[in-house]
Amino acid sequence: MRAITAVPGKPEQLRIADIPEPGPEEGTVQVRGRLLGICGTDVDIVQDGYGWLPPGADRLVIGHESLGEVLDAPADSGLQPGDLVAGIVRRPDPVPCGPCSHGDWDFCANGAYTERGIKARNGFGSELWRIEPEFAIRLDPSLGDCGVLIEPASILAKAWEQTERIGARFPWQPGTVLVTGAGPIGLCAALMGVQRGLDVHVFDRSDTGPKLGLIHDLGATFHAGDVRDVGVAPDIVIETTGHGPLVAQLSEILAPNAIVCLTGIASSADATVVDTDAINRMMVLGNMVAFGSVNAARRHYEQAAEALSRADHDWLSRMITRRVGMGEYPDAVHKRPDDIKVVVDLRR
Ligand SMILES: [Zn+2]
Ligand SMILES: [Zn+2]
Repeated sequence: MRAITAVPGKPEQLRIADIPEPGPEEGTVQVRGRLLGICGTDVDIVQDGYGWLPPGADRLVIGHESLGEVLDAPADSGLQPGDLVAGIVRRPDPVPCGPCSHGDWDFCANGAYTERGIKARNGFGSELWRIEPEFAIRLDPSLGDCGVLIEPASILAKAWEQTERIGARFPWQPGTVLVTGAGPIGLCAALMGVQRGLDVHVFDRSDTGPKLGLIHDLGATFHAGDVRDVGVAPDIVIETTGHGPLVAQLSEILAPNAIVCLTGIASSADATVVDTDAINRMMVLGNMVAFGSVNAARRHYEQAAEALSRADHDWLSRMITRRVGMGEYPDAVHKRPDDIKVVVDLRR
């Protein structure tokens, strides 16, 4: 079968390879791959050699944003042939640490977790893949191809859950959320903010492209320019850009008791001078919380599946702006200005 492979540690080794079909040791559920989403992590693997090889392998099957149809599953798995499924990416470390032993592998404390398509386990970028039933998420069949958005949406489901858990420290009634960055992650964050009945504002440095229509049709407000000029004092910020100077500027516009959830990572060439005493004073006197959030546990995938199921599926399908065949993967990792989510059709 064909698979999209790369070599962690060696940049620019992308190859569509013919490899043996996965055996039952990779899971008792057999899946025919339908779509595979591409994100920044995949670009890092392909272009910079990020990632870890599976033990004994010389190539890694990449891809962690999955969607497929069940071909075969054990009777007691709760899955049936034809079901639409997505795979959970992370597996608990073998020790396991405290969080992993409770299914909270997204909080793994020793870093020895593995990840499909990234860290020491083959991903979902192949015509056929297998998965353990407990790591498969069954999707609302009406989601169709939009089911490929479950993995990125799971990251935001966790971000929102954690934000709300922190917010429960007092009888909090947030009204306004600012999402910074209008990529797929930012748009999922905005969708979930609208689903919570919040006044949603989205900031992005670029003010062109299909994201503008998507934000408008969500009933959210778009802003570009300087984030300090958005004209609202957000109770919640979901930050998706990882751009340090932007994060520092956010501290100037927050409402009292604000919660800032940081979900992005980036490296910036600009060294920014920040008044750390001023930030400290503002955080203490404003009861503010800034926290980081990464990855997702099973319940976050389930929350994401529920959120996408409730969303307007036409709106979701507009997030998928480019669809390529497996052989076009090398071109697909080069981002175009109007790309939101690029997906690979694993059937062609
Ligand atoms: Zn991803
Ligand atoms: Zn762990």
